Amino acid sequence: MSVLDSLEEIREQALAELKSSKSLEELDQLRVSVFGKNGNLTSILRTMGKMDPQERAAVGKEANRVKQALESALNERKEILLRAAQQAKFELERVDVTAPGRHTLPTGRIHPMTQTYREIRDALVGMGFSLFGGPEIELDENNFTLLNLPPDHPARDMQDTFYINENVVLRTHTSPCEIRALKSVKPPFRLIMPGRVFRVDEVDASHSPVFMQIEGFIVDKGLTLGDLKGTLDTFVRAVFGDEVRTRLRPSYFPFTEPSAEMDMSCTICGGKGCRVCKGTGWIEILGCGITNPHELENCGLDPKEWTALAFGVGVDRVASLKYGISDIRLEYENDARFLRQF
Ligand SMILES: [Zn+2]
Repeated sequence: MSVLDSLEEIREQALAELKSSKSLEELDQLRVSVFGKNGNLTSILRTMGKMDPQERAAVGKEANRVKQALESALNERKEILLRAAQQAKFELERVDVTAPGRHTLPTGRIHPMTQTYREIRDALVGMGFSLFGGPEIELDENNFTLLNLPPDHPARDMQDTFYINENVVLRTHTSPCEIRALKSVKPPFRLIMPGRVFRVDEVDASHSPVFMQIEGFIVDKGLTLGDLKGTLDTFVRAVFGDEVRTRLRPSYFPFTEPSAEMDMSCTICGGKGCRVCKGTGWIEILGCGITNPHELENCGLDPKEWTALAFGVGVDRVASLKYGISDIRLEYENDARFLRQF
């Protein structure tokens, strides 16, 4: 067999093996068997030194042709195999994003206190009230004195206060926000002031040293107790339902004159009398009144020109009544078994 025939045979054989090669390893073995140190093409090239010039030229030319043809075929095949390997890897790693999860995560819920707060807020905002806020750490002056409770006033004892120092307290109610509003917002206005308030109290089923209040405050000209009753009646029905009836009962708060408490017909018995309403058919829901003129004067407003109406409602109280929760501690302790029910 001539050298040229051998070259042709190497070419044909290599191309055939190339076509049937299934992996990059196989391809590499093939490359070594042709181009390697002991490869069949290398062996032929090594004999060229002993050839006469004419033959060497012919063999050299042919060997080069075979070499180039095989090299480009090898590269081509390599590309194909690489792509196939990558495709196989993708198949293996394919994720079905529509498959249902293997673990179920516990879903969160809105806390009943937050639900109640939002209901109250939305009802009042729907009636034209805007939100207004103040700090939990408050000046004694804003918490008491300017609200018509000077330092020696006996009614200060009604609220057991956490004092930070002589002049600074943890606010005992949201009413100091009234002072801040009177000093910074131009009347007329309708504001709600939600927030935590603090009293020195032992924790039991109906007491907590921290609780959440929402203060309502309306300042306008010519307001009457009728406006207050109408506003609160609309508000209570928005939260508890249209069938609920309300009544105002005279009461005493140092910041309002006259002062009243609002009762609503018992949501459990509908007014017939039961254990919850202690047989009266009525349940106390909030405190309210016409703001004492001294408070307006203290903040630079003329009480002959302006009237202010105020009411305060406990979010925990409303939540207790709405959901039939008999122990206030449940509302603040975040026991998941309790919260899951809402
Ligand atoms: Zn009842």
